[in-house]
Amino acid sequence: MGGSRRQNKVFGAPSFGALLDASPDALLALDADGTVLVANTAASRLFGYSREELTGSNHWMLLSEGFHNETALLRAQLLARPDDPQPPREVYGVHRDGTEFAAEIAGSLVDDGGPQVLLVSVRSTGHRKSADADLSEAMSLLTATLESTADGILVISSEGRIAGLNEQFLTMWGIPPDMMKADSDEPAMQLILSQVKDPEAFLARVEKLTADSSAESHDTIDFLDGRTFERYSRPQKVGDRIVGRVWSFRDVTPRRMAQEQAEQALTDLAAQAEQLRAMAFQDPLTGLANRAVFNAELLNALKEPRLKSVDVLLLDLDDFKEVNDILGHHAGDVMLVEVARRLRGCVPTADVVARLGGDEFVVLLTACPDVDAIAECIVRCLHVPFTIEGTMLRPSLSLGLASVGREARAASELLREADIAMYAAKAAGKNRFLRFHPEMMTALVQRTDLEAGLQLAIGRGEISVEFQPIVSPRMGRVVKFEALARWDREDQRVPPAVFIPLAERSGLINELGSEVMAQSLKQLASWLREDPSRSLSMNVSGVQLQEPDFAEAVLRLAETSGVGAYQLVFEVTESVFFDADCNVIKQLSRLREAGARVALDDFGTGYSSLGRLQDLPVDIVKIDKTFVSMVRSGAERLPILSSMINMAHSLGLTVTAEGIETEEQARYLIALECDSLQGYLFSHPEPVCRFGHALKNAGQALVGLESRSVPD
Ligand code: C2E
Ligand code: CA
Ligand code: CA
Repeated sequence: MGGSRRQNKVFGAPSFGALLDASPDALLALDADGTVLVANTAASRLFGYSREELTGSNHWMLLSEGFHNETALLRAQLLARPDDPQPPREVYGVHRDGTEFAAEIAGSLVDDGGPQVLLVSVRSTGHRKSADADLSEAMSLLTATLESTADGILVISSEGRIAGLNEQFLTMWGIPPDMMKADSDEPAMQLILSQVKDPEAFLARVEKLTADSSAESHDTIDFLDGRTFERYSRPQKVGDRIVGRVWSFRDVTPRRMAQEQAEQALTDLAAQAEQLRAMAFQDPLTGLANRAVFNAELLNALKEPRLKSVDVLLLDLDDFKEVNDILGHHAGDVMLVEVARRLRGCVPTADVVARLGGDEFVVLLTACPDVDAIAECIVRCLHVPFTIEGTMLRPSLSLGLASVGREARAASELLREADIAMYAAKAAGKNRFLRFHPEMMTALVQRTDLEAGLQLAIGRGEISVEFQPIVSPRMGRVVKFEALARWDREDQRVPPAVFIPLAERSGLINELGSEVMAQSLKQLASWLREDPSRSLSMNVSGVQLQEPDFAEAVLRLAETSGVGAYQLVFEVTESVFFDADCNVIKQLSRLREAGARVALDDFGTGYSSLGRLQDLPVDIVKIDKTFVSMVRSGAERLPILSSMINMAHSLGLTVTAEGIETEEQARYLIALECDSLQGYLFSHPEPVCRFGHALKNAGQALVGLESRSVPD
């Protein structure tokens, strides 16, 4: 028994003080005032005071300022809810040396009947704090990282609960934060699915990955509103254990858009390159091939041994300049496009039709069985009239054709032959095609030769003037002479219709015109001086009117010849008025100011209408001989002639009819009250030596008209 008692002593209940001292935690028994009643060894060790020092002292010396009423709070809590477990309270303790340390206090009330004693245990938590700090730092770093990343992140635990997410996730999906706090994920999932283009695929992927917890995946999600997210998913692991799944979403819309823009830019660039390439080979106006393509195709064709024949059809529109000048460039363009369309229609699809520039086109035919038929078709089809802005036009062209069989020929040679043939077609009266013939070479040589000859003609005195009388039936006499240039070249007379255009092209017309005027004024001065109502008519081409001092030079010349400016008439064709150059108008105005008159030559042959007459600065209209030649018996009704004359008269202009060859024509025009008549009926143009002859003939013709017109 004693043994057991001793055992009790040794192993049985130890003394209260021994128990207190054995506690690893510092223990303090405090009375209601906070005075330390008892302190154990651990307390002495922790605070650095002896037990004696502690006992009877106020415990406040052991706590940092700010924590002095912690024990009172503890006591109050224990009193209020004695049965509730109380979590430890974090405080700062103070060592004897004044240094502070983190600690936890917990307590319980010792109720032994007397005043309630609070037993407080104090445990230093300094070691724990540093570990906590590391953890919370890591946590805050992680949170900061999660929140600052542009990716939306959602973590789902293996049990299917939301284990975490960041703000960005909610923003990206437009999920109100409250929705995620709700018990069910369903509303959030519905919201997500309502935004994506393919909700089935979205769900399928989620389900597949949920089923296979270790899988990783990467895909893109297209939104109905045009956005695109990248979805990345991988398992969340703690050590080797999979505890959930991390979903991260990245808005790649800007990147995708940039990519799409880059792709679009590349496509555009490719299209541009294609367009540039096409432009290099295509005539932009007509869409036909261009010169480069034609040249290349011609070279290929000539090198191809299997081809039996190669034909080149070179064509140039007749009087295209007139269309451009009178109706404007837009009309000119419309005409070229129409011509191109018709040309293409006449030529087999496989053959090349090209525009060489301006109004020049070319057709390359390979192995064509009937080239002449195609050339004929082109001339015919082109001549069909069509309307541009209310004006009816009838395009015509001159076509030169050159062919090569099996013999070897250079491309340049073939083209040159086609060119020569084309010129021959023009010279032969236009609106036709001609096949190259070696004799045409001679014509070409002549043309070049002619040009060289014209250069020297004036100096050599080969240029002279002939005068054709213009009569006034009312006055019964010659009132005017028209000066017409003549070129006698080595006993051969070159027609003005040949050398005038040549002179205009080469610019020689200025020199030639001055020469004609000088001679005319000199030769007719005395006749003109005799009667101020007599006048001299001179032809002037547009090129001359572009000279800035044309008017002044002519007026000076008249003055030195003693001829009044009012005795001069300048004949121009309507095309001079449609040149963009306003100098033409300036020169004509200057001449009219000085008293000279302007006559509109060849009226009715151009594109301009009667209505346009009133806008032109002219005094006289010369009706072209083509209209006069319509009068045969004199009994026909020709309203065109009467309207021309009436119109001119209503505008205050006088009218001269040209090319009067018969009495019928003369009478017809007299009946229409035409003011002046000119033509072979009265006199051919005559040189000054036959001037008297011309006057006499004209006078006789007038008398004849009068005598025979009076019925007896
Ligand atoms: P144009 O100004 O219309 O001149 C009238 C033309 O008709 C002249 O031809 C004349 O000889 C011709 N002719 C006169 N009466 C008749 C007739 O009854 N019947 C026919 N069938 N013809 C007649 P030409 O002399 O051959 O002159 C042709 C053109 O050359 C002129 O046409 C004129 O445009 C131009 N021309 C002549 N001399 C000059 C000049 O000095 N300067 C300029 N710029 N052009 C000139
Ligand atoms: Ca004339
Ligand atoms: Ca004329």
